[in-house]
Amino acid sequence: MSGAGAEVFFQPWTTPFGAPPFGAWTPADFGPAFERALAEHRRELADIGAQTAPPDFENTILALERAGRPLGRIAALFDHQTSTQAGPEFDALEREIAPRLARHQVEYRADAGLFARVEAVYARREALGLDAEAQRLVERHRIEFIRAGAMLDASGKDRLRAVMEALADVFTRFRQNVMADERRAALVLENEADLEGLSPELRAAAAADAEARGLPGKWVISVSRSSVEPFLQASTRRDLRQIVFEAFTRRGDAGATDNKPLIAEILRLRAERAHLLGFDTYADYALSDTMAGTLAAAEGLLLRVWAPALRRADEERADMQALIDAEGGGFPLAAWDWRFYAEKVRRERFALDEAGLKPYFQLDLMIEAVQDVAGRLFGLSFVLRDDLPRPHPDVRIWEVRDRGETPLGLFYGDYFARPGKRSGAWMSSLRVPHGLDGGEGPIVTNTCNFVKPAPGRPALLSLNDARTLFHEFGHGLHGLLSRAHYPSLSATNVALDFVELPSQIYEHWLLRPEVLRRFARHAETGETLPEALIARIQAARHFNQGFTSVEMIASALVDLAYHRLPDPAGLDAEAFERDTLAALGMPAEIAMRHRSPHFAHIFDGDFYAAGYYAYLWAEVLDADGFQAFVEAGDPFDADVADRLRRFIYEPGNSADPAELYRQFRGRDPGVEPLLAGRGLLSAG
Ligand SMILES: [Zn+2]
Repeated sequence: MSGAGAEVFFQPWTTPFGAPPFGAWTPADFGPAFERALAEHRRELADIGAQTAPPDFENTILALERAGRPLGRIAALFDHQTSTQAGPEFDALEREIAPRLARHQVEYRADAGLFARVEAVYARREALGLDAEAQRLVERHRIEFIRAGAMLDASGKDRLRAVMEALADVFTRFRQNVMADERRAALVLENEADLEGLSPELRAAAAADAEARGLPGKWVISVSRSSVEPFLQASTRRDLRQIVFEAFTRRGDAGATDNKPLIAEILRLRAERAHLLGFDTYADYALSDTMAGTLAAAEGLLLRVWAPALRRADEERADMQALIDAEGGGFPLAAWDWRFYAEKVRRERFALDEAGLKPYFQLDLMIEAVQDVAGRLFGLSFVLRDDLPRPHPDVRIWEVRDRGETPLGLFYGDYFARPGKRSGAWMSSLRVPHGLDGGEGPIVTNTCNFVKPAPGRPALLSLNDARTLFHEFGHGLHGLLSRAHYPSLSATNVALDFVELPSQIYEHWLLRPEVLRRFARHAETGETLPEALIARIQAARHFNQGFTSVEMIASALVDLAYHRLPDPAGLDAEAFERDTLAALGMPAEIAMRHRSPHFAHIFDGDFYAAGYYAYLWAEVLDADGFQAFVEAGDPFDADVADRLRRFIYEPGNSADPAELYRQFRGRDPGVEPLLAGRGLLSAG
């Protein structure tokens, strides 16, 4: 294929909102496009460094902000496509491009001339008459240079560049191994009797999956969370649950896709990076630029919740064992039994079950719900735009309007699982909003992996799926509502342990009775979720929180344990994970939410490395923050919503996050609402 289509990435897009013209390029166009965009960015940076005029805010800091626009545009689209439509044509390209991008980033930040100019502006920042956001921009650019090695000598810079390129290559291989395993079938069933316990939706999805794999008349449970968890919850076949559980927890763990040697390599490279930059360990390096600030602060929070979570999980285990014994099961509860028996206990104790609830949570109505909440809190409205180019036929695009009239940006919803899509759910910005040079509006995406219904049937969500929808929409609002002036300070470009606050706080609105009454409606009968069921959902909100807390905090503690090693060379990841969990008292019946060989958060890139704790850190903020609405006596209280918008969703990284939180709440957060929200107060 020729690369002639690469031109499209460099032209202004005349679509409404400048929406990306998906379909106007082929995967092969990305190679030449990257080549040209990298060369352009290098030239822009060289020009900034070569100026004879003395460094000032305009000719140095703003010039850096303006440089590299096409590269940013192409990288965002490339990341979007490799995450949602991966396949052989992208795999090879990604392995080629990732190290080149990494090398470019390092070379940019290692440029002594550029850094000297940034330092000169930084030294005079108080005297330049800059506003607070511009001053922060200067500080952030300086920090980014320093954290990327600008202060190293030439040999240090060479070594760091080699480390970063090697890391980019290993990240890509790690990610591709996990995705290859997730494309596999965990289980192929030929006999309808083996489907006992599964809902009609799950059976239909398993049949469709088999059909797509050329196995008509059979049923396939694939190795993705969206098909594994419902199977483990519903299947009455203990032997099959074990097979599916083991396939799921051993992604990236063996054979040609074994990620364990890559983990050792990643940790070794990260430790070297930290040492080069003057830190004892990678955790020290990563945490030094977060709200938590130190390893001790991050770990302290995790351990504070860990002990009561373990106690609660043990009570949950005992309840389930009692049920197994009463049924004459004659076996000890195993990890592949947890979700199945938890569901049984929930049914007995709260008269709630997933299968009974699911028909009330229709994807289309839940989308209306997330949009309606944004309307009531922030005055946003959403208009479907079927006329814009879509990256895939399943994707829905909305124009977002602010307070009735003002067009704000675009929101892309890509909800269904399909081959080639990374598992999990996430938000990304195809364009961050900013006010520089007349500004640009936001284009954000939400990508999920909900099970696609049979043709003509409504898509139904579990309560967890619905929570995911609210979560990712909260990230989406963070991307949409940003009013930071400078692109690099905009939207979700914030401290890692602040970034989950806008998403997690939004989850609180899902279970509000005033939301459920309007949007939880039965797919067959149209009946609104009965009040008695709403009350039972509220009563069951702490149910299984021991398990949920343990599987998540275990992942966070293992992440910190890996990254606090001063010398991880030659590490045996399997033994390290096992020993770390044993020392923490991890129950045998619970697996880490993400076992090491597929812990993509921390091993397919740097973003969450030594940072998985951030979900819990942000939960301190979201639980405490939502209390502001509770105290006001109204989940849509206009004053609190206005402060939430102004101090949490709008500022991006234009101000210090702890200070922003204080402006929103009037004080620092406390940890009690988090413990109460997980039902762990009495246990702790
Ligand atoms: Zn999130």
